[in-house]
Amino acid sequence: MSKKRNNLLLVVSGPSGSGKNTLISCILDNRDNVSHSVSATTRAPRGDEKNGVAYYFMTFDEFERTVEEGGFYEHDVYRENRYGTLKADVIKRVAAGDNVVLDLTVPGAVNLKKEFGERAKTVFIIPPSMKILKERLIARGTDPMDVIERRMRFALESEIDRYREFDYVIYNDVLEDAKKAILLIYDSLTTGDKNVKKAAEKLKTVNSAEFAEKIVDRFKKEADMI
Ligand code: ADP
Ligand code: 5GP
Repeated sequence: MSKKRNNLLLVVSGPSGSGKNTLISCILDNRDNVSHSVSATTRAPRGDEKNGVAYYFMTFDEFERTVEEGGFYEHDVYRENRYGTLKADVIKRVAAGDNVVLDLTVPGAVNLKKEFGERAKTVFIIPPSMKILKERLIARGTDPMDVIERRMRFALESEIDRYREFDYVIYNDVLEDAKKAILLIYDSLTTGDKNVKKAAEKLKTVNSAEFAEKIVDRFKKEADMI
C-alpha cells in the first residue's frame, strides 16, 4: 500500500472569528509538505479572491450537479450558501505527497471525520469570550455589524457546544500560545516523536474538557453581547 494513502487530513473548525484561518496560516508558513484544500462554494468572490485559489466558485446548479455526481466528501450550507470539500482537490494534494488542512463548518468537520475515520483529525478553536469574539470580528473589518451579530448568534446556538465532538480543542486567547498548540497537534500527528505526542495529549478534548466547559459556560453567560 502506498505511503501517500496515510497522509493526514487536519480539519480546523469553530465559530467565525475564532481564529481558524490565522492558525491554518501558521501551519502552512511553518511546515513543509502541507497544503490547504480548496473547496467549492456558491458564494460570490470577496475582494480579489481568485477562482481555484480561494475557492472554486460555482453556481447553485453546478454545485448540485457535483453533489449528484458524488464529487464531494462532505457539503454543508452556511449563511444561505453551499460549501463542499471536493474529492478531486483532496486526492490531487494527497497524490502530490501533501498533508491536507481543511477549514470547515462544524457539521462539515464531523461529517468528514465520519468519511475518513482516524485518518482525519479534527480541531475545534474556542474563542475566549463573546466579548472578545465580537471585538475580533469588528477588528477584522470584513463584515457589517448585522452579519457579525448573526455569526455570533449562530456560534452561541449551533456551534460552541459541539466542541465535544472534536478530537482536540485549542483555546485561542493569547495568539502565540494558540499557534504553539496547533503546531504541537500537527507535529504529534505527523512525526514519531514520543515527547511531542505526549505534550499534545493535553490538547485532546477528553483531557481538556473540564477547562473547555468553563469557557463555554462563560461564553453562554455573555449572550447579551449580541
Ligand atoms: P476565522 O478564520 O475563524 O473566521 P480569523 O483567523 O480570520 O478567524 O481571525 C479573526 C480575527 O481575529 C482576525 O483579524 C485575526 O487576526 C484575529 N485573531 C485571531 N486570533 C487572535 C488572537 N489570539 N488574538 C488577537 N486577535 C486574533
Ligand atoms: P467564508 O464564506 O467566510 O469563506 O466561509 C464560511 C464558512 O464556510 C467557514 O466557516 C468555513 O469554515 C466554511 N467552509 C469553507 N469551505 C468549506 C467546505 O468545503 N465544507 C464545509 N462544510 N464548510 C466549508
